Amino acid sequence: MNELLVFICDGAPVRGEIVSISSAWQAILERRDDPPAVRRILGDFVGAATLLSASLKFDGTLIIQAQSKGPIQLLVVECKSDLSMRATVKLSVEPSEISADASLGELLDASHSGRLVITLDPSDREPGQAPYQGIVALQEHRGGKIMPVTSAAEAIGLYMQNSEQLDTRIWLTSNDTHIGGLLLQRLPDSGGHAHLDPQTALEGWSRIQTLGDTITNEELLTLSPETILRRLFLEESTENGVRSFPARSIRFFCRCSRSKVADILRMLGEEEVDSILAEQGAVETVCEFCAKPYRFDAVDCLQVFKTNLLSDATRPPSSGH
Ligand SMILES: [Zn+2]
Repeated sequence: MNELLVFICDGAPVRGEIVSISSAWQAILERRDDPPAVRRILGDFVGAATLLSASLKFDGTLIIQAQSKGPIQLLVVECKSDLSMRATVKLSVEPSEISADASLGELLDASHSGRLVITLDPSDREPGQAPYQGIVALQEHRGGKIMPVTSAAEAIGLYMQNSEQLDTRIWLTSNDTHIGGLLLQRLPDSGGHAHLDPQTALEGWSRIQTLGDTITNEELLTLSPETILRRLFLEESTENGVRSFPARSIRFFCRCSRSKVADILRMLGEEEVDSILAEQGAVETVCEFCAKPYRFDAVDCLQVFKTNLLSDATRPPSSGH
């Protein structure tokens, strides 16, 4: 099950999404060796990226980055509009130093250094045009104290409060095989729900959130989005109706390629690459998202610097791998 279901409530100004990811999540995990506490956080952010990506009227790539001076130095999840996604984590400590019950605050907000950066990179972006970027600190001020956020859902909630005009609630959970999530978004009172008076609209939003609060992690991890929708909105369906759209599928996809590695070599410059060749005989690198190895020997490197136009498609098979 790698599915995302979008639904609209007729009796309340609410749009929602339910996500269930299994094999696409396992495809990420089998390429990595993260400790359990890190896997839990990564899983929640992968769920969040698919929910946010599907909630935007936007063609391009949504990138969630969590950065800190703590054990998780950088966590990146990229999700394209077609719901293909990839993810990676960079730790500043040995995986064995991270305890199984480490909290998000301990891993991502050491000395309140945590930040969440969400980038929207449109596919038709002009060269020189900057992608849209929103940043929030991974802390909350509660009763005069600064507290780290406790979950990915809370972090995304903070971001939405700061950057989006729409009220949004999000529920996320993950284990080593599944990710489950629910998103509820209040739609503007104008538009498709203009027939609802403001009081009814407000009550509707509050009623649907109360229904959302009844969802359990167990249900999110084990039931299909269609079943969750039926269970959550059993009464709502008979009273007012909930309409869902055809489920969309989610897949793991890494867009790394030999030509992108060649671009990096060109950025490093011929001199630097020659010194690596002299030292190691070849330039070897591994994709941080999918662990695919890339190897450029002396002949490959010569080709890289001889032409800027060499692409994967036209490149002859290289010797030595
Ligand atoms: Zn890759």
